[in-house]
Amino acid sequence: MTVQQVLKSKGNAPVVTIKPAATVAEAVGILSSKRIGALVVSEDGKRVAGIISERDIVRELGRRGPVCLNDTVDQLMTSRVVGCTRSDRADAVMQMMTDGRFRHMPVIEGGVMIGFISIGDVVKARLAELSMEKEALTGMIMGM
Ligand code: AMP
Repeated sequence: MTVQQVLKSKGNAPVVTIKPAATVAEAVGILSSKRIGALVVSEDGKRVAGIISERDIVRELGRRGPVCLNDTVDQLMTSRVVGCTRSDRADAVMQMMTDGRFRHMPVIEGGVMIGFISIGDVVKARLAELSMEKEALTGMIMGM
């Protein structure tokens, strides 16, 4: 299974982004209203400047308290973002996420973001694929 197939299985929902100069409080509002765990930080919605995840915010809340909500997103974001391409294998992406201890990854082509996947999207698509494989094998064994 490829990243392209994972993207297809999750539909064409646009990637939720936030500008680097937005406040952490705004990021919290979006994460909460959209019920997601991370935002791509981007000035134009295409080029990735960073990622800010709920973990970045919780860590800073624990360290400095609610005053960090007034910070700008680029003060808390991770700027060394690991991305993938649509032709990457989903298994390899899962391995990169596990090794790097993160759960989100932008899909980048020619420097431009074309999608965003979470470990949940990859696991869901892989489970669906395994279930189809099981049905096909059962059909073959039973002669159906
Ligand atoms: P997550 O598990 O995705 O919520 O993120 C855990 C940590 O990894 C946070 O500090 C994120 O900013 C960072 N992070 C999330 N996704 C990526 C990524 N694709 N590349 C690099 N860092 C990331």
